[in-house]
Amino acid sequence: MIPFLSPRRKTPAPKTLPPLHIDVPHGENVFRVALKRSPTARRYTLRASSAKHEITLTMPLRGSLTQATDFAHRHGGWIAERLKKFDVRIICEPGAIIPLRGTPHRIEHRPNARGTVWTETSATGEALIIVAGRPEYTLRRIKDFLKKQASLDLDHAVKRYTSALGIPARRIALKDTTSRWGSCSSSGRLNFSWRLIFAPSEILDYLAAHEVAHLKELNHSNRFWRVVETLYPGYDKAETWLKRHGPSLHRYQ
Ligand SMILES: [Zn+2]
Repeated sequence: MIPFLSPRRKTPAPKTLPPLHIDVPHGENVFRVALKRSPTARRYTLRASSAKHEITLTMPLRGSLTQATDFAHRHGGWIAERLKKFDVRIICEPGAIIPLRGTPHRIEHRPNARGTVWTETSATGEALIIVAGRPEYTLRRIKDFLKKQASLDLDHAVKRYTSALGIPARRIALKDTTSRWGSCSSSGRLNFSWRLIFAPSEILDYLAAHEVAHLKELNHSNRFWRVVETLYPGYDKAETWLKRHGPSLHRYQ
């Protein structure tokens, strides 16, 4: 149940710029809640976004800050509970363990090695992502590497599924959207989240099949799902995986 509160009365528009957040004390903690004034909001609403790791309070454009603050303070328990459920963020830096195609890899920095980023298996059988070069370049290099791998895999999968449907291959674009894993525009442009590289390969394949199926059916009709089923039999397993584990792919920063 999402907490909400209807405004008691109309208040004049604020003359000064409203704050962008409210700090909510709860027990020994203080939680930061992002504040959003919305012209379409009719009441005060709290929402939790696990993709953005953020609690947002949406309030009417002319709502009162005092009411918003009171409202947020009364729901400290709800906020604490939601924040606890968010996955811990993991920075893709040396020492971190991140899934590459669903398999955990430890990132290791080798400052003096030649090359940029590559994978290898250690003598003990541990999967590694090695990043070479100066420490200040490692984060950028790892991100470039992950995006490149996502792009290679998605290109490959899209080629396979378009040829299965007998239609020309498409160029793909990578995005970092929090709301969807892939999309297909009416002009036939396919967009994917580069974070799919963290998921098992069959999940990335499913997303490619799903978006390619939209090239035939730009909707979610029964006809569309029949196309998906021919390209990727048993797709509902992948859908279930995404619902359950998808949000956690956003924990890697
Ligand atoms: Zn779709």
